[in-house]
Order: sequence, then structure tokens, then C-alpha cells
Amino acid sequence: MRILLTNDDGIYAPGLEALHDELLRLGSVDVVAPSVEQSGVSHSITYLEPLLAHEVFRHGRLFGRAVRGSPADCVKLAMLQICNTPPDLVVSGINAGANTGINVLYSGTVAGAIEGAFFGITSIAVSLAAGDQPDYPAAARLAVPLIEQVLAGESRSGGLWNMNLPEMRPGWPVGVKTLPMGLARYGEAMERRIDPRGRPYFWTTTIVDTSHPLEPGSDVEGVAEGYVTLTPLHFDLTDRRRLQEVASREWRL
Ligand code: MN
Repeated sequence: MRILLTNDDGIYAPGLEALHDELLRLGSVDVVAPSVEQSGVSHSITYLEPLLAHEVFRHGRLFGRAVRGSPADCVKLAMLQICNTPPDLVVSGINAGANTGINVLYSGTVAGAIEGAFFGITSIAVSLAAGDQPDYPAAARLAVPLIEQVLAGESRSGGLWNMNLPEMRPGWPVGVKTLPMGLARYGEAMERRIDPRGRPYFWTTTIVDTSHPLEPGSDVEGVAEGYVTLTPLHFDLTDRRRLQEVASREWRL
């Protein structure tokens, strides 16, 4: 099997390295990943500037290509230029931090997988919930057998999946659950600071609101309770139920 591996934390991220080493059990792995961190870039692409890529070596051997662009750029470039044979699978991760709830829509990691699905290839985003000392090799050892199970269950290629692993606490993960993406807002905030020249600047932050119950039955709750969550996604943004509804209306010019 041929696997294309990307992420949004950059080609030197430990999560990507761990997943690379573990995915080698399934076949050959082509790494095409951002040269610097691209977390939160979602599905952005580079098209006003040239896209630069350079080879990265590990232990004296070609490890992959570093691209000065987004995860979506990486997958596009891999598909259109780098991979001689199209991969059978696109994997994006392991991301540092969960990509659950509406974070899925901000995530560069998930966007890398979505881009793979655009090309009709089964694609999986893998993320590990933030902990004190994230154990990426352990997370990769859990993720790869689940990736195998996803593949075994797919009747056709092009399926899009989002996998989230809980913190690697003792006794966790407690199981695997297939859950929908949460839709609640996170505790978002903008912190205002003053720069040395007296000008205000802002940092996007998240406030963990422990008083607020987690959305029941969502991936957010599943990961918080120690489950590995699997969510089948699709990139069709059309609200088909409402489309039917509005099609019966009379529209005038
Ligand atoms: Mn990231």
C-alpha cells in the first residue's frame, strides 16, 4: 500500500515522525508536509506566490518534502507533482491537540485529509488530545490498527475520517466510539496586550469552561472521557434538507 502523510504542525513535528514510523508497517510512506507549523490554517491554499518545496533527510535518507505552504497545498502538490503513483491512503497527523467539535473547521490537519478526499482517496486525520507529555509513539501504535480497520470496512475509496485520541493517561483509552462532531462553541477569547510601542495587539486564546457541560454524545465529550473517537466526515456543505425546502419556494427576478 502507498500512503501519503502530511500534517499541520510541520514536517519536523514529533507526531508526524511517530505516525510515519508506524505506518511503514502498512506500506510505503511519502511525507509531504509544511516546512513550518500551519495549525489553524484550515483549507487555505497558496496561489498568489510560488509554492516552494525542498527535500528533508533523516538519518542520511530522504524522509520527505517540506513545503512552504498549507496542508492542503502539500496534498495537492503531492498528488499533482510528487507521487508518481497516486496513494491508496492519505493520513494527516498526528496533530498536537484534539481536532474535535467546531475546531474541525479551523484545522489544517483535517484540511489535509479533506484535500485527499477531494482526489477520491480514503483520507484520515489523526489528532492527540493535549496532555502534559504527549506520547506520540504510543498514540501512533493505537492509531494505525484503527486505520487498518477503517480501510477494511471501506467498500470504496474516497471516505473521509477524523480520528481523535484522548490524553495518554494510565488506563486510557478506555475504548473506541464513533461519534458526531460537536457543534457547541468553545470558550473563545481574544487577549488584549500592549506592545513596546504602546499599540494594542491581540492573541486568540481558549478559555476552558469547566462549569459548562460537554456536548453529550459528541466527539468533544468522547475524547474528554478517554475514548478514541472516529467520525466519518464529508465536505459537502450543502444543507440538503433545506435545499429541498427552499426549492419549492417561488423565486422572483
Ligand atoms: Mn496542529
